[in-house]
Amino acid sequence: MLAGMSLPLPIDCDVHPVLPGLPALMPYLDDMWREQVVRRGIDELYSISYPSNAPITTRADWKGADGRTATTPELLAAQGMDPFGTGTAILHCLYGVQLPFSEDMGAVFTRALNDWIVAEWLDRDPRLRASIVVPVQSVALAVAEIERLASDKRFVSVLLLVMGEIPLGRRQHWPIYEAAERHGLSLAIHAGSSYRNPPSPLGWTSYYTEEYVNQANAFQSQLTSLICEGVFSKFSTLKVVLLESGFTWLPGYLWRLEKFWKGVRMEVPWVDRPPGEIVRDRVRLSLQPIDAPPDADDMLRLMDHMKSDELLVFSTDYPHWQFDGQDALPTCFSPELVRKITVDNPLNAFPRLKELRESVP
Ligand code: ZN
Repeated sequence: MLAGMSLPLPIDCDVHPVLPGLPALMPYLDDMWREQVVRRGIDELYSISYPSNAPITTRADWKGADGRTATTPELLAAQGMDPFGTGTAILHCLYGVQLPFSEDMGAVFTRALNDWIVAEWLDRDPRLRASIVVPVQSVALAVAEIERLASDKRFVSVLLLVMGEIPLGRRQHWPIYEAAERHGLSLAIHAGSSYRNPPSPLGWTSYYTEEYVNQANAFQSQLTSLICEGVFSKFSTLKVVLLESGFTWLPGYLWRLEKFWKGVRMEVPWVDRPPGEIVRDRVRLSLQPIDAPPDADDMLRLMDHMKSDELLVFSTDYPHWQFDGQDALPTCFSPELVRKITVDNPLNAFPRLKELRESVP
C-alpha cells in the first residue's frame, strides 16, 4: 500500500499485541500473587468489551493454528507492519486489568502486563513503542506505575479506556496527567470500558453492535469533560490521542460544543478559546477503523469539515477485524496528506517518538 513512499517510514499509532492468556503473566508476578492465582482459581482477566473468542475478532487469514494472532513480535511484524511498510508501531495492550474492583489486584496485573510488554515485545523488536497501561482503580497507583516506567523512553504514552468510573476531566485524575506531561508522555484514550457504568447513557444495551457504536458517544463525552473541566488549560503541553474513536463525528460535535460554549462560557472561564481550537492544537484521532463513507467525494468533504490536516494519525488497529485491511489509507488522500497522517502528525501526537528519532545518530 505504501510501497514507493520515500523515507521516513509510516508510524502505526494503534496496534494491539495479544496476551496469549493469564499464564503468560505468571513469570512477572511475585510469589504471593502466583499463589493467589492458583489458590483463588483465577483463570483469566476477561476484557469483555471485546469478544476475543469470537471468530470475527481477527482476520481469518491472520489466525494461527490456535485461532489467535498478534501473540508475538514476529507475527505482528509479518502481518501488521511489513505489508504496510511500517517503520514504527505503538502497542496498546488491551487486557482486562482495568476490570478487577481490587486496587491491589489491578495494580499487580497491570505491572505484570507492562513488564511482559517490555520483555516479550520492546526488547525483541527495536521498531516497537508502547503505552504504559495503568491501574485505573487507583489514581495513586496509576501515577506510581507511570513513575516506575517513565525512564524507559520506548514508552510514549499512558493508556486509558474511554469508559471508566467517572469523567476523565474530573480533578481526581489530574495527578495522572501531571505525571504524563512531566515525562513527555501523551495521553492515549482507547475504546473500551472498565464496566463501572453501562456503555450507554441510556442504560445497558443488548448487542455488541450497540456497544461498539456507542463508543463514539463516550469519546465525545470525555472530550467535553477534558475541555470543560480545564485539563487543557492546566496541562498546557499534554497531547491527547483518541484511539479507535472514529472521527466522522468530530465536525458536528465541535459545532454543537462551540455554539453552546459561546452561550454559557461564563461558567468555564478557563476555556479561554473556542473548543475547536483546543482540539486542533492538542487532540489527535486514529485513522482506522474508518467510520466514513467509502465515496471519495464524501471523504474529502469530511476532511474539509475537519478544518485541519493535522488531526488524524495513521493506524491499522491490527489485528482487529474492523479495519480496511491492506487499504488502510483512502486512495483519495493526496501524497502530502498521506505524509502528514503517517509521519508528521504521529510525531506531533507522541513527542517521545521525535525525541527518540533525534537521539539516533
Ligand atoms: Zn484499537
